[in-house]
Amino acid sequence: MLGYVGIEAVLDQLKIKAMKMGFEFNIMVVGQSGLGKSTMLNTLFKSKVWKCTLPGLAMPTPQTLQLKSVTHVIEEKGVKLKLTVTDTPGFGDQINNDKCWNPILGYINEQYERYLQEEILITRQRHIPDTRVHCCVYFVPPTGHCLRPLDIEFLQRLCRTVNVVPVIARADSLTLEEREAFRRRIQHNLRTHCIEVYPQKCFDEDINDRILNSKIRDRIPFAVVGADRQHLVNGRCVLGRKTKWGIIEGQGRWTGPEVWLCLAVENMAHCEFPLLRDLLIRSHLQDLKDITHNVHYENYRVCRLNESHV
Ligand code: GDP
Ligand code: MG
Repeated sequence: MLGYVGIEAVLDQLKIKAMKMGFEFNIMVVGQSGLGKSTMLNTLFKSKVWKCTLPGLAMPTPQTLQLKSVTHVIEEKGVKLKLTVTDTPGFGDQINNDKCWNPILGYINEQYERYLQEEILITRQRHIPDTRVHCCVYFVPPTGHCLRPLDIEFLQRLCRTVNVVPVIARADSLTLEEREAFRRRIQHNLRTHCIEVYPQKCFDEDINDRILNSKIRDRIPFAVVGADRQHLVNGRCVLGRKTKWGIIEGQGRWTGPEVWLCLAVENMAHCEFPLLRDLLIRSHLQDLKDITHNVHYENYRVCRLNESHV
C-alpha cells in the first residue's frame, strides 16, 4: 500500500463550505381543513422559531384561507438553515372536490419552473434560490377505516411530483390499537394503488439505507398530534394538549377522578411526532433535497424541454 495522501480532508472542506453557504429547506403541508396542519408547522419548529409564550396565553392558530409561504432562518452551532414552510388551505371541503389538487400541484410546478428559468439563463446566478418543495406532509383524517378515494387520487398525483410523507392527523382521537390497525390498512391501500411515498424503496442506495428506510416505511404514516401551547408538567414546560380524562365505565358513567392530563407531543408514548421531526430535519433533510433535485425536478425539466423542442 502506498503512503497516506490525506483525501479525507475533503470532508472538512465540504463541511466548511456547507456551513458558509447554509442550507435551504422547504416543506409544505396538505390535507383537509381542521386536521392540525398549521398547528403542526408551529410544533415542528416552535422551539427554534418562536419564543416561549406564557402557558395559556398563546393565540389560537387562525384558519388558513390561502396558500402561504413563510421563511425563517434557524441557526444552531454556527449552521444556518433557511426554512420555508408553505401552509395550504384545506381541500375537499366543497361539495364538488373535482380537481381540488390543482392549486397545490400548480404551486409545486411553479417553483420547478422558476428554478428552470434561472438555470437556463446564459448568465446564471452562482447560487439559484431554491423555492422547490422538498417535502410535502399529507394529513390523513383519523377515520380509523382506510384511505378515502379523494386521498388516493390526491396522493397518486402528488407522489409523482414531490416527496410525500403521509401522517395520521389528530391521532389523539384513536386508541393505540386503532392507530396501528389504521396504519396497516393505509399501508395496504398505498401498496395496492402503487402510491410511492417517501422514502421510496427504489431510491435506497445501499444496504444501510435499506435497513434504516425499511424501519421508517414500517412506521409510515406516523400518528401525530399537534400542539402549539406549552404546559407546566412536574415543573417542566412541555409542548402538548391538555385533556380532561377520567375512567369511563359501563354506561359511560364517570367513575375515576377527574384529572387534567397533558398529552406531550415530544413523548413517543403519546404520539409519533418525534419520528416525523427526526425524519424531516435530523436524518433525511439532505436526501429529501437530493431526490427533489435528481428525480422530481429532473422529470419536470425533461418534460418542459421536450415540449419546447416540439
Ligand atoms: P388546519 O386547518 O389543518 O390548519 O388545522 P389547525 O392547525 O388550524 O387546527 C384546527 C384545530 O384543531 C385547532 O383548534 C387546533 O388546536 C386543533 N388541533 C390541531 N392539532 C390537533 C391534534 O392533533 N389533536 C386535536 N385534538 N386537536 C388538534
Ligand atoms: Mg391551516
